[in-house]
Amino acid sequence: MTRVYNFSAGPSMLPLEVLEKAQSELTNYAGSGMSVMELSHRSKWFTDIIETAEAVLRKLMNIPDNYKVLFIQGGASQQFAMVPMNLFGGSKKADYVNTGSWSKKAIKEAKKYGEVRVIASSEDKNFSYIPEITADMIDPEADYVHITTNNTIEGTVFNKIPDTGNVPLVADMSSNILSEEFDVSKFGLIYAGAQKNIGPAGLTLVIIRDDLIGKAGESVPVMLDYKTHSESGSLYNTPPTFGIYMAKLVFEWLKELGGIVAMEKINREKAGLLYDFLEESSMFSSPVQKEDRSLMNIPFVSPSDELDALFVKEAKAAGLETLKGHRSVGGMRASVYNAMPVDGVKALVAFMKEFEQTHST
Ligand code: PLP
Repeated sequence: MTRVYNFSAGPSMLPLEVLEKAQSELTNYAGSGMSVMELSHRSKWFTDIIETAEAVLRKLMNIPDNYKVLFIQGGASQQFAMVPMNLFGGSKKADYVNTGSWSKKAIKEAKKYGEVRVIASSEDKNFSYIPEITADMIDPEADYVHITTNNTIEGTVFNKIPDTGNVPLVADMSSNILSEEFDVSKFGLIYAGAQKNIGPAGLTLVIIRDDLIGKAGESVPVMLDYKTHSESGSLYNTPPTFGIYMAKLVFEWLKELGGIVAMEKINREKAGLLYDFLEESSMFSSPVQKEDRSLMNIPFVSPSDELDALFVKEAKAAGLETLKGHRSVGGMRASVYNAMPVDGVKALVAFMKEFEQTHST
């Protein structure tokens, strides 16, 4: 069986070169006679893996020295709680921007720990755009401002990162980290579940500015305190070792490709192919406002639920997998993360053209 083009929103495709490298080292990593899965997290082999992963990531994202990189577990969903548990140190107030289902979940969780103000929302138009955030909307006393940089389900992206002044900006970057250039110094904290652009599910990446560590109250469980992971170099307990190893391979792959600048160019090319077709198509269209369209998650609809279902079924038979839209929004969605080759998007567009010709009335 050949590999398919998998348009899943996550877990999603990994670069074939990365999978093959992992395969070649699976039973005997670096002459250790063991799989990475079997190595002690305190061994010299694993120490090298985690240190290299961090070093390469720091270079890729140009992470300043006053930020810590943490490799932890619990998914982005656990960050919905860890962020308020750790950052509600001062006023116990936070400003959130509601741009979709994942923002809503983050808001709901944060409300358990302090006063949450939703300063802007795009719910009025089905989350089909990104609201503008201006400095005067932000409470200068807030402990932080939270945004979801890319809305995986709705297919929108913040093209302009809001300037929050002295209030730390926290970003859920789960679905567009490493896909385009970000100035890390504009953020107080960035988090991302790994299963889209980083590696296998089970690993969560946190990039946090030093001064935001150590603010958690006494009652915060040790595993949910950023300080625990920061002070132990993400080795307080057994970390997701294989996930960190895979992330290292993905970071090295990205570096080899030319880094994030090169990756962003490819991502713009891929998204452009699909959006251009959606503009000219008389069957398919994008529900998202033009200037806020995501490079990573591209929802689209046909004129009927029946055609949507037929499209997904026939696409699957043609080796184009997981194109069904999220259950909350319907239609279709093509997730074209870093590992999706340009040829995959070309194959999808060719299939859409053919489908349109065959099924137009
Ligand atoms: N935030 C965003 C933007 C996501 O896309 C997802 C998952 O798809 C999550 C949070 C939840 O991530 P996890 O499954 O790692 O908890």
